Formats: sequence, C-alpha cells, structure tokens
Amino acid sequence: MDLQSFEKIVKNENTAKKFLLHFCWKNHQRFCPKCRSRRIYTLQGGRRRCGRCAYTFHDFSQRFINNGNITCQQWLRLIKLFELEVPTGRMAEQLSVSYNTAYKSVTTLRMAILAHSLDASLIIRSIEGLGFGKSGKFHLDVSSKVGGRMPVFGIVERGPHVFADLIPELDEDNIVHFKMNFHLKTASLGKIIYTDQFKQYSALLVGGSRLSATYNIKHADKGLFIDSSKGFWSYSKEWFRRLKGISPRNFPLYIKELEFRYNHRTQDIFPILAKYLCDLVPDFED
Ligand SMILES: [Zn+2]
Repeated sequence: MDLQSFEKIVKNENTAKKFLLHFCWKNHQRFCPKCRSRRIYTLQGGRRRCGRCAYTFHDFSQRFINNGNITCQQWLRLIKLFELEVPTGRMAEQLSVSYNTAYKSVTTLRMAILAHSLDASLIIRSIEGLGFGKSGKFHLDVSSKVGGRMPVFGIVERGPHVFADLIPELDEDNIVHFKMNFHLKTASLGKIIYTDQFKQYSALLVGGSRLSATYNIKHADKGLFIDSSKGFWSYSKEWFRRLKGISPRNFPLYIKELEFRYNHRTQDIFPILAKYLCDLVPDFED
C-alpha cells in the first residue's frame, strides 16, 4: 500500500477502525467468537453478549489485535513501519509509545504471522512460553534473556517458495554432534549458525550465541550447499546480519517472519498483515 492510500485510512481513529473491522467481520455480520452463534445481544459501550453461551465480547475480542494496548491508528502505523522493516526502537519513537509497548505490539504481529504458517501448531506445542491462552491472549515476554532449548529449523526450497520447518527432535547440541562426529559443515551469519545440506533440508538453522560460547568451535566452513542458493539465501543474509538478541522463544518468531517476507516478496504485505492481525487467535490445544 502506497503512502497516499495509507494516509486515507489513518486519517482518524474512525477510518482506521473501519479498515480493521472489515477484516474482522465479513459483511459486518457479528458472531460469537467462542461458539460462533449468531444469536447476539447488543450491550452498552459497543459490547455484545452471546445468546447461546453468554460470552461477552467486543469487536476485537479473541483476536491477535486485542494483544498490546494501542489504538487502531497506531496499529496501522506499526504495520506500515513493520512492512518497511523499521527497528523496534525507531518504531517506538515514531509512534510516541514506550519501547516496551512497541515491542509487545510487534511481537503480537510476529505471533500472528507464526500462527498462519504451516507448522504453527507444532511450534506452539513444542516451544515453551509461546502458547496461546483460552482468552486469545499470549505471553509477550519473548526477550533475548529467556533461556531454554534452542530450536532448530530446516530449510526447504520449492520453486519460488521456502519453508522453514521446526525439527522438534533436534537441538543445538545435535548440531555440534553432527559437526564433530559426522563432519557436517557449519558457518555463521550474525547470531545464526547454519549447516550444510542435511537430509531433505538445504540447511539447518539454529540461534548460535550460546553454541559458540559453550563449545570452543569455529563455525567458519566454506562452500556450504545453501551458499550457492540464489533465491532465499541471498535474500536472507542481510536480514540475519541485522538480528540482535536471539532466544529460544523469539527465534521461531524471526524465522517465521523471514519465511513470510520471502514467500510474499512480490506482494503488498500491508493488507495481509492487517488481516492476520484481525484473525481470531487459534486454539492449538484442541
Ligand atoms: Zn457463544
């Protein structure tokens, strides 16, 4: 979306809300976000109550957008800045909110992207602290200080698309084991360690700060399979170099953001991000 069209939708809080609401409610038809019943009573203050399960809700209840406490105008500005890959600190300045608020909102957007990926359910169930609650709220503290087991992702390229699949049976120690005992080549890129071809994957990726600190091993092999990949890898290199702190919880969010950006690189991602943000938070526990 170009800036002229963008300015029209962020003109005021009403225009911004109207733009977001059309992603939430097709043809303005409200239904209960819990049981999907259309038997709805209107209450005061824009709230509604379900005639079947008695759940009381507002227009954004149970949706990603209900996480992070910012206005509709701020959400749209945040999506625009995210589209342009503005770092979180600069977003906070531009939106006149605290760093923490900007961080939580941008994490919400990344959670929405992750939830729309093919292996979302596996990731949500495997990574501690990334779960979604029944209320549609989730943990937003995925800072780089959080510990745990660093997940490993395998890269599969299929024509113009790339899939970064979580491989739940592997962790960073396995990568070291493969390197030491089976001569799997490894190299580093910013805070990321990547490997040579492994089974059906053109590379394995793992967050590497602890990997380099714990084991006194250099990850500087040459001629890895993915180094010759023109598509995804040349796109990703700069992106990985910019990543700062990586934790077991935020690594999947970054990987899924990259997968999303790459697979939508020829599209306008602004309306896609707005739609993702307005979708209901899925219940992966069922
Ligand atoms: Zn209901």
